[in-house]
Amino acid sequence: MDPDYSDDLSPPDESMDDLLNAFEHGLTGEHMHTRWMRLALEEARMAAAEDEVPVGAIVVAAGRVIASAHNQREQLADPTAHAEMIALTQAAAALGSWRLEGCTLYVTLEPCPMCAGAILQARVPVVVWGAADPKAGAVESLYRLFEDPRLNHRVDHTGRVLADECGQILSTFFRGKRK
Ligand SMILES: [Zn+2]
Repeated sequence: MDPDYSDDLSPPDESMDDLLNAFEHGLTGEHMHTRWMRLALEEARMAAAEDEVPVGAIVVAAGRVIASAHNQREQLADPTAHAEMIALTQAAAALGSWRLEGCTLYVTLEPCPMCAGAILQARVPVVVWGAADPKAGAVESLYRLFEDPRLNHRVDHTGRVLADECGQILSTFFRGKRK
């Protein structure tokens, strides 16, 4: 499913008071991260609706969404079709460059080694992730690829943003599968 970038991508479910407050007082990092993560969660919900493991990712540059994707491993029969991989490809196409300078990637699940590797290759400066992945996480859980001094790039990262919601959608999905 191709996301329509002409859509108004302002985050849903936000009251006018919140918005006014944000504009008047400046968006704090935390508030901003929560807003964008909600869009990544929307993508995760689309994945669930398509019977894909619900993980969503977006890429933001200069306050605008330039990529929005969800896991499509089953539909594309492609082991690399994780949400982050698709979002990175979209973002590179949008910028006309493999080097994603000034971009922030939001993803609902801690990136796996493949995606963390691709994020490093793309020189993404900042990653914000939702739920920790004790079985495959390569940011904190199993590896710390974004902080490895042997690699030629570091990634600033913030984890556990809306972790409960991001994890809930996954556990609901897998519970449904076991029935
Ligand atoms: Zn991955």
